[in-house]
Amino acid sequence: MATTTRGYTYEHGFCQPAETNPWEKHHDSNLNKDEVPHYNVAPSVELMTSPVHNALGHNYLRTWPTIYNGTGSPHGVPEWWDSPKKVDVIICGAGPSGLQTAISLVRQGLTVRIIDKESSPLLAGRADGVQPRFLETLATWGLADEVAEEGPLIERTAIYKDGKPLLHGRSHQSDSRYRGLHVITQGQIERIYIRDLYRHKTLIDRSTILKEYVVDNDASTSHPVKGTIMNTETGEEEVIEAKFLVGSDGAASKIRRGLDIPFDGVSTDIYWGIMDCRFESDYPHAWIFGSVINSKHGGCVIIPREQGYIRLYTQLDVSSTGPIAQSRLARDVNFQESGGRVDVHSITPEEVLEQANKIFAPYTLKFASTLSWFAVWKISERVARSFSSNDLRVHLAGDAAHVHSVMGAFGLNASILDSCNLAWKLGLCCSGAADIKSLMPTYDRERRLHAVRIIETSGIYLRFICNSILPVASLYKAGADLGWDADAKRPGTMKSTNGILKEVNGEADKFNGEVNGINGEGDNVSGEVKKFNGGGHSDQKTNGSNHNNGSNSHTNGYQKGANGILTNGTPKGQVYVTGETTDSPLKEMKPTRDEDLSFLRSFFGDYGHFLLGTDCGYGLSCIAPAISSHEKRPVTVRNGVRAPNPRVCFGTNKTGYLYDKMPGPAFFHIVVFGSDLLGPVRERLAAFSQALSTSESFYNKFGGLKRFNILLVAKGVPFEIEERMRGDDLKTLREKAVICSDDRTPEDDAHSMYGVDHATGAVVVVRPDLWVSMAVEPDKVDALGDFFGEFLVGRE
Ligand SMILES: Cc1cc2nc3c(=O)[nH]c(=O)nc-3n(C[C@H](O)[C@H](O)[C@H](O)COP(=O)(O)OP(=O)(O)OC[C@H]3O[C@@H](n4cnc5c(N)ncnc54)[C@H](O)[C@@H]3O)c2cc1C
Repeated sequence: MATTTRGYTYEHGFCQPAETNPWEKHHDSNLNKDEVPHYNVAPSVELMTSPVHNALGHNYLRTWPTIYNGTGSPHGVPEWWDSPKKVDVIICGAGPSGLQTAISLVRQGLTVRIIDKESSPLLAGRADGVQPRFLETLATWGLADEVAEEGPLIERTAIYKDGKPLLHGRSHQSDSRYRGLHVITQGQIERIYIRDLYRHKTLIDRSTILKEYVVDNDASTSHPVKGTIMNTETGEEEVIEAKFLVGSDGAASKIRRGLDIPFDGVSTDIYWGIMDCRFESDYPHAWIFGSVINSKHGGCVIIPREQGYIRLYTQLDVSSTGPIAQSRLARDVNFQESGGRVDVHSITPEEVLEQANKIFAPYTLKFASTLSWFAVWKISERVARSFSSNDLRVHLAGDAAHVHSVMGAFGLNASILDSCNLAWKLGLCCSGAADIKSLMPTYDRERRLHAVRIIETSGIYLRFICNSILPVASLYKAGADLGWDADAKRPGTMKSTNGILKEVNGEADKFNGEVNGINGEGDNVSGEVKKFNGGGHSDQKTNGSNHNNGSNSHTNGYQKGANGILTNGTPKGQVYVTGETTDSPLKEMKPTRDEDLSFLRSFFGDYGHFLLGTDCGYGLSCIAPAISSHEKRPVTVRNGVRAPNPRVCFGTNKTGYLYDKMPGPAFFHIVVFGSDLLGPVRERLAAFSQALSTSESFYNKFGGLKRFNILLVAKGVPFEIEERMRGDDLKTLREKAVICSDDRTPEDDAHSMYGVDHATGAVVVVRPDLWVSMAVEPDKVDALGDFFGEFLVGRE
């Protein structure tokens, strides 16, 4: 919702605006006691969504503090809330990253305290698009439908250049069941999460900061993190003990700073004016497509939204942003480094509209409603050099670990992948089922790699839209090894970007020397976040297995100090590789139409699936082991990539997706591909089945039903599979596995999607967050034991 309207009535069986709010029933004060309802409707308030407004007035949105404000509810906290003093995890920051981490942890039966300095959640603005992979993750927690069904689905893009169409057609096409980019506001998502946590008896501690913390690494301590939290309204302090601390406290993260972790990358002088509003326009695609409009004046991006609203991003003219750059805020290192919202004094919505009209010409735009949100945002592109503390007890997630432009809608989307990656690992370590030193380093290794790829992808697209020649930081070699073999995983990728990527090889830019110890503007933390264990992170070793395959194609294109013309279709003219910030990022360039089209073809060819979250491969580690070149694998799907999600059949009357049978945040899914259960594959399946009942097999050694979810995918329709499953040789498999019938044609059946060899069958291990870990032939049960033994703690 962009704005509050009156409530709705369904009096006629469908939704219509109501005369009066249906929840407001007025009872006669003379009612008998037994006629007065026991249930009290929670009171709502209407809040202004944007202090900056246009000539059409202010915009309001209804919210329900009793439901959303956690411990800050003006109506008190529920009786069941007991403010636990000893928990598994303290989460500092209840934005999307913190909330998602909490959602996963509570589903694993873990206890959390989640705190936030604000008195209420985000009301309007910020993120408004979620990728299919985001929804696939939410589906494991049972929340995907609620999010996917809220707003428009973007599956088409129109790109205009100088008033003329450049490209207009299908985009955002993925093999995910969720297809393209789904539009929903960040405020709506946060409210869905908060309701979910409420269901799990978890409230957010509002107006609360982490005043200080220490980590006591004495091996005998079960809860080594001791954090002092403080309610900023009452001044009350509490000491909370925990096994881990998650820093999800946003771009200016105090926890990142307290750990002295450099934030590598570049700060740009690119500013966006952002308006959520209804517009009157003769531009033909505003309400149908995600659109990009580019001209010599800069770029605009429009996202169609709910209630006829659109999100309009307008690149501001440097002559307007100049004064901002000189302002007090721009001299604040914290702001310079992380980017973020500018406290606008000088730029008005009317001026942003005027700039948008220049870019849109010959089309025109007029305000047709109040502004639901208005902001001016400065863009930085940075990644924390480590996402984890040296002792692996503190982990960063979301904007605290990486910031970038909104191009590609990555921030919120990446935050969910951080959270789900982190939370299952924390869950296993908290319960003692996994070895911290083996498993937790994979969080940094995997999620930092993803963040580095985001900097590259969104950075390249941003520069295309903004006509910017500022180099994009290539951060693959900053920090500990990422285990990434770009050539092997994505042949061809990066070729188009030669020259625009500037390698940052463990070198922080000039801000990094200055940031430590700076308190954020407007931040009311009085104490310092405590450092522990000292030392920087540059020498941190990952304990995930050390399979660095070395070569990294993106660095090849780096031409040190050169003003090289970009090749392979990137129409960006000269590249300057000096300076981490830029004094004049914009330069008028005149690529031809063919060069523009060639850039777009190559950009979407290289990055299209990454933009939807489905190309999200991780580097090699103990949970995605290297495959030796002479090893014969029974599948073609690689270790460390998103698990494909084929359509399968669950019984005579029910079809669905493989993921439907992979719910919950804490199971390893053991997907057994059994071909037609006959011929040479049968013996291998029988060996697997038998191993499930022996005490020394991986299954019983590492947790059985509690840890593993076994799925058998077999060719044939359900009655054929049922018949073939008879027999003692497959008895244990029959009893333990969820059976999925793979009865589609070979061009899109599950066996083909995973590339299974029908002569051998295969066992594919899929992690709790739905990435492929490894695959073996079904009778190689010992290999499964060896694999899990690398990071799980087995029964002696
Ligand atoms: C204009 C705009 C558009 C965007 N569009 C998209 C999009 O379409 N798609 C997308 O994926 N992403 C988008 N993003 C990015 C997205 O909003 C962020 O990446 C996302 O909010 C990150 O979530 P987070 O929880 O990591 O950080 P935040 O949302 O910043 O949350 C951090 C939380 O920590 C709290 N906090 C901070 N310091 C402290 C402290 N010391 N103590 C206690 N609490 C603290 C804050 O109050 C806040 O609630 C957009 C961002 C902007 C600005």
